[in-house]
Amino acid sequence: MSDEPKMRYEPWRALALWGEEEEAAAVEVIRSRSLFRYYGPDLLHRTDAFETAFSEMAGVPHTVAVTSGTAALTSAMVGLGIPAQAEVIVPAVTFVGSVSAVVGARGVPVFAEVDDSLTLDPARIEELITERTWGVMPVHLNNVAADMGPITEVARRHGLRVIEDAAQAAGVSYGGRPVGSLGDAGAFSFQLDKNITAGEGGAVTVTDADVYDRVARYQDQGGQFTTSKGMTRGAGDTPPFIGANQRMTELTAAILCAQLPRLVPMCRRLRDVARHVRSETADLSVHWRRLPDEEGSGGDLTLFLDSRLQARAFVTGLNDAGIPAHTMYQGQPVTANRAVREGRTPWGVEWDRPPRYRTSEGLLGRSVTIGLGAAMTEEDVDAVVTAFRKTYEGIVRAD
Ligand SMILES: *Cc1c(COP(=O)(O)O)cnc(C)c1O
Repeated sequence: MSDEPKMRYEPWRALALWGEEEEAAAVEVIRSRSLFRYYGPDLLHRTDAFETAFSEMAGVPHTVAVTSGTAALTSAMVGLGIPAQAEVIVPAVTFVGSVSAVVGARGVPVFAEVDDSLTLDPARIEELITERTWGVMPVHLNNVAADMGPITEVARRHGLRVIEDAAQAAGVSYGGRPVGSLGDAGAFSFQLDKNITAGEGGAVTVTDADVYDRVARYQDQGGQFTTSKGMTRGAGDTPPFIGANQRMTELTAAILCAQLPRLVPMCRRLRDVARHVRSETADLSVHWRRLPDEEGSGGDLTLFLDSRLQARAFVTGLNDAGIPAHTMYQGQPVTANRAVREGRTPWGVEWDRPPRYRTSEGLLGRSVTIGLGAAMTEEDVDAVVTAFRKTYEGIVRAD
């Protein structure tokens, strides 16, 4: 659109670094004519390689590559043995995929308020626990880990499973440990907006060998196969069951393999960019989003203004200066999504109309997130500082 202001830099993380490695990796797979992960005329085993490399990055013994972040969350819960109609506590601030995954696993989402970290408020979990509560799904939103210490403590005390939704946080850590290794299972997405991408894709990280076996089987029709080549897919002792097809293609895996080495350095760089901007504006007493573990964050610059109106003006001010910025989820918690509010699901999983999540709604509506791009130059970073100071002084000080 011609009247949109020209941005100084692309806010993409993965795409900003996209290049020859991806192209070469894709061409190799295409030339092999072996795009299916389990067999083919000249299979390169890129999906296996990606699982191994991802496990190493995430600090877990096992990764299962799948088709999407939503599939990863669903298969993680299936792997952990979620009973039908079990309740899973989900933060009111997340992408709708977290909710779809619970419904997909035949569970029932129960929503919880976030705090000013925009992640699950550990103090608000306990009041939601009933005898049907089975799990809790902290969401590591926009490269900031949820406060996993107190969250896992509450979960342990009540015997709940912890499924980490790390779709927006590959490469992020908490307490020195990568996200995806802190709960009973972790789920990642490789959709276009995420830290590494092949357009689509997902991964489940697990520690327990039996859970791994169930997840690995589930994404491959429940591990029914002794293939035409006589290979058995699925290694453990659990018998086959009826599963799904969520298999990653070799093309996707090859592209992700090309990107994976850039992930952790990129997160570190963006964390340092965010840190620099915060320190260069320290005199303005900005209400920044709280970071439960700043050291492990993958770069987030979100602040809260005094009102929705002010937040909107702040976004416009930054955009006019060519700085990408937006209000997260248009200021709406996932509970404001109509289908979620009305509990409309494909198979009659039902829940009561959720109440208003006023804390979450208030925080989101007053939030401004500055888009950080993996290819930002020092000049771009300086421009963020300059535009930030000017806009802040024009809007907040003038009020
Ligand atoms: C992107 C995302 C998902 C879903 O991932 P897909 O790959 O799009 O299915 C789930 N949860 C969160 C928080 C996300 O950002």
